[in-house]
Amino acid sequence: MGFRLANVDGRAALVAGDDYYDLENLSGSRLGSDPMAALDQLDQLHELATELADQAPTGTLVDVTLGPPAPRPQKSFGIGLNYKSHAEESSMELPEHPVVFTKFPSCLCGPTTEVELRSDGCDYEGELVVVIGPGGKDIAADDAWKHVAGLTVGQDISDRPAQFMAKPPQFNLGKSFDTFGPIGPLLVSVDELADRNDLRIRTEVNGEVRQDDTTANLIFDVPTLIAHLSQITTLVAGDIIFTGTPEGVGAAQGKFLADGDVITTTIDGLGTMTNRCVRVSDFTS
Ligand code: ZN
Repeated sequence: MGFRLANVDGRAALVAGDDYYDLENLSGSRLGSDPMAALDQLDQLHELATELADQAPTGTLVDVTLGPPAPRPQKSFGIGLNYKSHAEESSMELPEHPVVFTKFPSCLCGPTTEVELRSDGCDYEGELVVVIGPGGKDIAADDAWKHVAGLTVGQDISDRPAQFMAKPPQFNLGKSFDTFGPIGPLLVSVDELADRNDLRIRTEVNGEVRQDDTTANLIFDVPTLIAHLSQITTLVAGDIIFTGTPEGVGAAQGKFLADGDVITTTIDGLGTMTNRCVRVSDFTS
């Protein structure tokens, strides 16, 4: 049976419907409270998920503020230009190899955290986010899904001036400002999904649909990305991959994020994140 994992005040919890169940309590302290540690215990999460109907919930989700389901990954990757439509709107050639950059783990935040803008050129990028479970090196694409703890929704917020400031461009810092990586609301195990390779993904800003596509249009799919990255670096539980964004980013339309904007990101089967933007001090290079 599949599971849905949440980060409630820094504590791992399983979710059923609107209710959550504190993982440490639910497991009789066999498992600890750390959401990162839970990502290495997938068999137990699957097993405990079957017992929720017999347990009293710890509380309901509407009463709590969720944190990122993988709050402290050792590594956090982003993939650029991974949808044909987005490569075209960016006037870039289709990549022959994955375009990989770093989003520093320190930029990660929860599914309702305010996004702090430091320029008038900040942009949204709704993305499917993969969270690694059992780690590995040189993982074959055919085995890759076995190394996935689950999937979640993400926003790869990008300060475009900072992203393209240097020549040649270095994406890492322009995509790693604090609060530039909202993820959530839940980590959903892959067996909960009707088709893990075809998930509708949408981004709205102030209710206006800006992005609407399906992950079936990824150029480099999840197994390919895991096989690629794991040849270079050993993947460990909790590592995350922002898999790239479809067309409709603000830069292609001259519609950048502004103070008070509300970004709503939904992936069918995974849930919805709502992040409000606040314009803070200017970044000066
Ligand atoms: Zn991106």
